[in-house]
Parts: sequence; C-alpha cells; structure tokens
Amino acid sequence: MNPGVKSGRCPKCGNRTNQLEAVMIPIAGQAWQALSLQCPHCHAILGVQMNPDQLVDETVARVAKRLGRD
Ligand SMILES: [Zn+2]
Repeated sequence: MNPGVKSGRCPKCGNRTNQLEAVMIPIAGQAWQALSLQCPHCHAILGVQMNPDQLVDETVARVAKRLGRD
C-alpha cells in the first residue's frame, strides 16, 4: 500500500483522498482488464489490480470445468 494513500492524502497533489476513482483499463496483449485506482483530484494512478469481477467469473468457470459442469 502506498503510504500517501494510507495517510489520506494523494502523494502527487496532496489533496485528501478518502475516495478513489476506479477506471477499467485494458492490458496490452491480454483478454484481461485491470482496475486502475486513481486520485479523484489529479487522476494520478495510486494502485492497479486485476478486475475483480473478471477474476470471480474466471474462477467460477474453472471450478465448474474441474467439476465437469462446464
Ligand atoms: Zn492527486
């Protein structure tokens, strides 16, 4: 975790960031998407993670396949 975010302030612009913007962005060459967590004031990227919905869907699909229910 970025220490700037932990303290409640954006490390780039210094504004309070008790909320983040979540923007879906493509990953080059992949079918996956990432979730970019950005400062709502200056739009600096403060964190990036895999799209949680896509991860859940993929996990469910793989479990179903293993269980022979695809
Ligand atoms: Zn900022």
